[in-house]
Amino acid sequence: MGGIEASLRRFTHYDYWDNKLKKSILLDSLADILVYGNGEKQILEIASRLKNNRDLFGINGTCVKSNNVPPRFIELPSHKQVLDSKEKFCDMQNLFSNGHNLAEQFELDRGYILQFKSPNYLPRDLDEYYELPFTREIKSKEIMGFEFSIVTHRGCIGNCNFCSLRLLSGDKIVSRTEESIIREVEKMVKMPHFKGNIDDLGGPSANMYGMDCHACEGECINCVKLNKSHSRLIKLMKKIRSIKGVKKVFVRSGIRYDLVNEEYLSQLVKHHVSGKLKIAPEHVNTEVLELMNKHKGDLSKFISDFNKLGCGELAFYFMIGHPGTAMKEAEELAQAIKKLKNAESVQLFTPTPMTVSTCMYYTSLNPKTKKKIYVPYSFREKKEQKRILGLKKFN
Ligand code: SF4
Repeated sequence: MGGIEASLRRFTHYDYWDNKLKKSILLDSLADILVYGNGEKQILEIASRLKNNRDLFGINGTCVKSNNVPPRFIELPSHKQVLDSKEKFCDMQNLFSNGHNLAEQFELDRGYILQFKSPNYLPRDLDEYYELPFTREIKSKEIMGFEFSIVTHRGCIGNCNFCSLRLLSGDKIVSRTEESIIREVEKMVKMPHFKGNIDDLGGPSANMYGMDCHACEGECINCVKLNKSHSRLIKLMKKIRSIKGVKKVFVRSGIRYDLVNEEYLSQLVKHHVSGKLKIAPEHVNTEVLELMNKHKGDLSKFISDFNKLGCGELAFYFMIGHPGTAMKEAEELAQAIKKLKNAESVQLFTPTPMTVSTCMYYTSLNPKTKKKIYVPYSFREKKEQKRILGLKKFN
């Protein structure tokens, strides 16, 4: 098994729909092996082992059941311990990582779920996968309009606590080579149904292309060593715009506004955005933003820099109901939205398995400090938070 749902349920996790902790889905599904995150390398390895009648134990980027724990594994609190203690559930959350071999005991004295750390995906791997001869012929209307999208990189260094990407494609950037992306575009313009528009150029956060650094396990977004110049991305955008047959290159993937610099922002707004530039500040209250791990940006400075460009409009994504949000914080957001006028969408926080915010939701604790936090649980309060925002449209 594999995919997003399986990846995020590979260990004991909180299930919002059943409102309880559940064992690893590998146990419930009776599957032999679980592939987590991006799975190209794992699938190739599994296929080759099956072909050669070899067992499937020890493949990086997979989880299996085992009667014992091999050396060099970090042992998570056991299933029983996290059922009995919310603090232990926080300890487990703090140990989750794609970069380590992890083991969780689900039955006394035997029965473990083993996670083999994620394989290293390199730029040449992504070049190979994304240069495969895709037909880009999409029949279903739901996903039409994205067939000419270009993935420039994987991973995200944002580490927002409500997002699961860190435990899927990782919290380090892996960027494709410019040459490979240019080759892909040159192939695209020769396709009979290509009309000149590139639907999207990006990744989880469009403006993290080229911010590759794997020197340590630190949090890159705050690190002085990270190259935030956007120089590789600006060069790439210019090159693609100049390719014969390309009329417009849209950037529809979200951008991290707290990373942008003036040169990138002006290129983006002038050449790559149709109508509104969408950004996701998510909230305006400092404590809530810290609990979301999204407190690094200066929204008002970004808005004034944007307005100085004098073209285009901003649209904002916000979130309500996140742990730490009581009516006072919702009121503060409502006031801000009234001033900003352009709230594109407000999402109601929904707990996704294995995220830090879901751990906060289930435990009412900040997993880092184990301090108690307020969590709006009742449907009535969430409805009230929606009402005071006075918006018709919610996600
Ligand atoms: S040195 Fe800084 S930018 Fe590089 S991996 Fe470590 S934290 Fe990230």
